[in-house]
Amino acid sequence: MSDARSRLAAEREQTLARLASLTGDFDSVVAASLDTNADDEHDPEGTTIAFERSQIGALIGQVRHHVAEIDAAVARLGAGTYGACERCGLPIGEARLEALPAARTCIGCASLHP
Ligand SMILES: [Zn+2]
Repeated sequence: MSDARSRLAAEREQTLARLASLTGDFDSVVAASLDTNADDEHDPEGTTIAFERSQIGALIGQVRHHVAEIDAAVARLGAGTYGACERCGLPIGEARLEALPAARTCIGCASLHP
């Protein structure tokens, strides 16, 4: 399971880097919106910035959730339950774990209950 551990560590690093870049984008969008004399109702640019801000905010939420999923997978690795499907208990395929190291369910359960 040392492969899984290094995969999860790599995935976590990538995800945190993505989070850092998203947070940077978010800050610059917020800064841009503070610069404009925002009259959202009539200013198309203000509306765009508000839209971008909500889009990036949603992405940041997803990426944070993914970090939590990776941490949960690392905890399962420590507990010895990593790689077992949380729904049916069967092993999650190696290919699936390679693609999605933080996966909680096997491909069969994932396609039945996305
Ligand atoms: Zn399953």
